[in-house]
Amino acid sequence: MTNWNIACVLLDARDLLLLKGEKFLASIYEKSAYSVSALEFPLSSSYEIPLFLPQNIREDIREILNTGNFTLKGNLEKEVPKGMQVLLRLPGMYPENVAKLYTRADIDSVSDLSKAIRDGRIRKNREFGLRMEEQLRKSLLLYQNNTRELTLFDGYTYGNSIAALLKTKGVKRIEIAGSVRRGKEQVNNINFVVLSDGEKTKEIIKKSLSYKRIEKEVDDYISLKDKRNILLKFLIADEPYFSSAMIYYTGSKMHNIRIKEIGKAKGFECARRGYLLVQGEGEENVYEKLGMQYIPPEIREGEEEIDLSLRFSLPFLIQEEDIRGDLHVHTNFSDGMNSLREIKEESFFHKYEYVAITDHSSSLKIANGLSSKRLLKQMEFIDRINRERDFPVLLKGSEVEIHKDGSLDFGDEILSRLDFVVCALHSGFDSSAAENTAKIVSALSNKFVDVFAHPTGKMVDVRQGYAVNLSKVFEVAAKTGVAMEINLFPKRMDLSSGLVKQARRMGVKYFSVGTDAHNIGHLNMMGYGIKILRRAWLKKGDVVNTLNFKELKEFL
Ligand SMILES: [Zn+2]
Ligand SMILES: [Zn+2]
Repeated sequence: MTNWNIACVLLDARDLLLLKGEKFLASIYEKSAYSVSALEFPLSSSYEIPLFLPQNIREDIREILNTGNFTLKGNLEKEVPKGMQVLLRLPGMYPENVAKLYTRADIDSVSDLSKAIRDGRIRKNREFGLRMEEQLRKSLLLYQNNTRELTLFDGYTYGNSIAALLKTKGVKRIEIAGSVRRGKEQVNNINFVVLSDGEKTKEIIKKSLSYKRIEKEVDDYISLKDKRNILLKFLIADEPYFSSAMIYYTGSKMHNIRIKEIGKAKGFECARRGYLLVQGEGEENVYEKLGMQYIPPEIREGEEEIDLSLRFSLPFLIQEEDIRGDLHVHTNFSDGMNSLREIKEESFFHKYEYVAITDHSSSLKIANGLSSKRLLKQMEFIDRINRERDFPVLLKGSEVEIHKDGSLDFGDEILSRLDFVVCALHSGFDSSAAENTAKIVSALSNKFVDVFAHPTGKMVDVRQGYAVNLSKVFEVAAKTGVAMEINLFPKRMDLSSGLVKQARRMGVKYFSVGTDAHNIGHLNMMGYGIKILRRAWLKKGDVVNTLNFKELKEFL
């Protein structure tokens, strides 16, 4: 059992809890699941279960590891109506929508749902509407095609756990390729390149992984549909061509078409599987033999990167080592699981120079938002902890709610005393785009605001974002110098790389990256997040987190 498998059953429990309306407990399961996925070592025995997880979750994980069972999930499955559970299994289905469909429209099966869409009942119902119909149509289509999409975080952590498992089972070399390696936000399969060890390679793969069926098997390739309908594809390559196979299997399709043309013009042949027969260790080497500059996987889209590479003028993209701190972290003052001191210690191991503590503010009651009195108390604590040890410095911050009228939860007097002000909208899902845009614009015009958090408010698999005119938001951010956040919490990934590009085109100068960590395990999420920044072609200078402490103070 891999970490990802454990995380998946914890997330199943989250979904069932959401159907029961137990939002608070559901969020604890979600936070725990994400940190299990993001662990850097496999949980193979109950000794290794991180202590920062709540006691009940540690017991659940122990049970899952020792027995393969999960009592809580079993109980929830008995309690939650079967019809709801059937609907929930549709890919991309939001628990909130399942509950609505079940209780307000008596829909409790897939056939009921398709009929309701056909009859126009969803569209005509004021509570559902056209937007929801589109979402449901997409879910049905994915269901009928038997495919499931994963978020980048899931693809990345699942891919890593498979690679780690296969290595322990005797595979000599395995690398993640495909859209996960390119950092695409939604992926529908996970590609790997595996070093060939004769017939043994495929045997190890088949014996080590649990799957529903083999989709295709030939001498140098095998693909499996796993038990959750996720397609895993393995290209098996010989040593001299491993790197060339990596380029081919990372894609994208359009990138490959251009690479093949260039290779053929230089006289290289193609393998049956489609990759160029260019020998050499390391992709840099292969690109060089094609007369090209190495192209980072995240920007291989068959667009301008090819010509820039041929002219050796690709930009130098941001790297993980450039990040000097996490700029969105919660503690147990609001809805986080760890203390200020624990965050500071863990961040030290990440070699960070600073970490922004950005707990929620008072009007976000569900997340135990801080009143100004508690915020001032927290600021005192931070000063004290910062005096104990110099680095990393905890920045006194807040994730401040934007009110209906565009004002913020704290007045200027408090805001002026904070080092780092992140403003955010966690409501407004029933408001119009004009209303939401007006609130945000007014918040971004406050001179103390440094960052606008998760700008679209969308949550993958949970709900759509609020209605908002993003172009207007970007325009104002360009003018006021407020940074747009790239929030790495797995269900958010907000902004996406596509929207970062759009923001840059509209003149937005600064971006800020935060894991939105709610426990110390989430600090690891920076690793996968870098892909999103690189995919958006961001350079070191575009991202606030690359400033050193002194420069950051000047920026703020
Ligand atoms: Zn938030
Ligand atoms: Zn947050």
